[in-house]
Amino acid sequence: NAKIRIGIAGYGNLGKGVELALSQNPDMELVAVFSRRDPASLSLQTAGIPVYALDTIEQHKETIDVLILCGGSKDDLPHQGPHLAQWFNTVDSFDTHAAIPDYFAAVDAVAQQTQHTNIIAVGWDPGLFSINRLMGECVLPEGQTYTFWGKGLSQGHSDAVRRVDGVKAGVQYTLPIEEAVNRVRNGEMPELSTREKHRRECFVVLEEGADADQVKEAIVTMPNYFADYDTTVHFITMEELERNHSAMPHGGFVIRSGHSATHTKQTVEYALNLGSNPEFTSSVLVAYARAAYRLAQQQQYGAKTVFDIAPGLLSPKSPADLRKALL
Ligand code: NDP
Repeated sequence: NAKIRIGIAGYGNLGKGVELALSQNPDMELVAVFSRRDPASLSLQTAGIPVYALDTIEQHKETIDVLILCGGSKDDLPHQGPHLAQWFNTVDSFDTHAAIPDYFAAVDAVAQQTQHTNIIAVGWDPGLFSINRLMGECVLPEGQTYTFWGKGLSQGHSDAVRRVDGVKAGVQYTLPIEEAVNRVRNGEMPELSTREKHRRECFVVLEEGADADQVKEAIVTMPNYFADYDTTVHFITMEELERNHSAMPHGGFVIRSGHSATHTKQTVEYALNLGSNPEFTSSVLVAYARAAYRLAQQQQYGAKTVFDIAPGLLSPKSPADLRKALL
């Protein structure tokens, strides 16, 4: 059985994570990495894998079964997704929620014409969390869905902290508020405001001579990012930041709380506790690459989301083996 040949487009956190995740999936092999940066400047974690300039990728269309797109959602994927779909079956982790319908349409138009299978918005949110919200809502049509995130490092909020005058470096964690989670788990179906669901915690290294009170005030009152939350700011040294805050943990829970027809309480919960957000997201991308390959073989072309992919297609096991494991 030939292995599924995988390419990686973009070599950041997710690109590196996909490279590592492939080593745990013996039915797939990494054949090449593509980057906009000078290929000679990148050193991969695996020996013997070539790196090519992204703008030469068309030459490799015959040697790659699925290209995993690891570009950023904000600036890279809106262009790279539709562009690369003309030559490749792809999987990506596009996560700008409000823009997903337009992105889907742009990828689908190319995919239908060039006969490729392109699974978009794969990961955990959107992705596995989306599936669990949908399942909860189908099974318990009368109820409420709650998503809590954290404890997790938020890239966007960390960037916002670092842009404050007087801040040399810093990170931001999003934390679910335990009391709210407990009420939801209890089946109370509470109405929760933004402030009641999550709080924010920042670890900041000050520039020399910066005023701690001013920096703190600028952070906690920042509109859109912090003003609607209870935010704690801790000042630490660069050494502490590097020692204690360089991992990228994340996670959260999706809870559907509702009742069945006789008003009996029913609660469904799906939880993730991730030591590394990019490594986990990459592992999800790799599983969906298997599905993209199989759908392309069945000539099921077009853009798809996680809602369109049957779970069995994600597994390296055959349908017959999966049936044996159903019980
Ligand atoms: P990165 O910023 O690490 O990488 C994005 C791109 O930037 C890379 O593909 C790479 O392209 C370029 N890049 C990376 N490092 C450097 C560098 N040192 N200098 C210059 N360019 C660089 O983003 P992530 O991999 O962490 O995340 C990618 C996207 O994944 C995010 O935008 C997010 O939207 C999404 N995501 C989705 C999740 C989900 O659950 N759906 C969860 C987590 C992330 P090139 O090699 O071409 O230069």
